Amino acid sequence: MADIVLDKVTKKYPDGALAVQEVNLEIADGEFIILVGPSGCGKSTTLNMLAGLEDITSGELRIGGERVNERAPKDRDIAMVFQSYALYPHMTVFENMAFPLRLAKVDNKTVDAKVREAAKILDLGQHLERKPSNLSGGQRQRVAMGRAIVRSPKAFLMDEPLSNLDAKLRVQMRTEVSRLQKNLGTTTVYVTHDQTEAMTLGDRVVVMRGGAVQQVGSPQFLYEQPANLFVAGFIGSPA
Ligand code: ADP
Ligand code: MG
Repeated sequence: MADIVLDKVTKKYPDGALAVQEVNLEIADGEFIILVGPSGCGKSTTLNMLAGLEDITSGELRIGGERVNERAPKDRDIAMVFQSYALYPHMTVFENMAFPLRLAKVDNKTVDAKVREAAKILDLGQHLERKPSNLSGGQRQRVAMGRAIVRSPKAFLMDEPLSNLDAKLRVQMRTEVSRLQKNLGTTTVYVTHDQTEAMTLGDRVVVMRGGAVQQVGSPQFLYEQPANLFVAGFIGSPA
């Protein structure tokens, strides 16, 4: 059964901009889905509607079979992974990762256990008492991921999480994100405008343009059978 379902999900901003138009998508439990497309095509808006950070104008969003359109972000059991610069500079790695649990009033003992478990998975165990400014870019990005995984959410949402890293680190972190997703098996929706990232990272790729879905499929399927010239051109397959 699909875990997250978008049923004709549409977003019209108050100024009249039609950012997302009747997007239909079924995301299976544990799947790693990539939303890709040029700047302004509606990727972030779609992700923000999933997270509950933007209202859905029309259509329905279901998680685990239940309509969640009206549900507050904190009650959706999904975690947004922000870019590493969203860390709190005055807090240690431990407290940065513990932050969502503190907000949720989780007891100290559980916080400690959850943070240490996440730190182990992310290879940050040695750095828990450091401040973000004393970490490498890759370590900072892992702290940002740690902050999302401590709550064991039903799904991760990532909006261009690697876009502010340099090229070499970006390639390295792709491997890390992929490994983390496989290890945890958590449903992940990952937004990027980078074709290489899209074609190497996910189980399935959703190509968007002008607020509408152009095609959904495995990287190989999109490459071999692009639905139209836009998809072919965008992902760089011979059409
Ligand atoms: P992407 O993430 O793919 O670059 P966005 O979802 O950010 O695209 O934007 C989709 C469209 O909606 C764009 O035309 C953008 O200008 C518009 N848009 C985004 N945010 C707002 C907003 N808060 N108010 C009005 N229009 C917006
Ligand atoms: Mg965006």
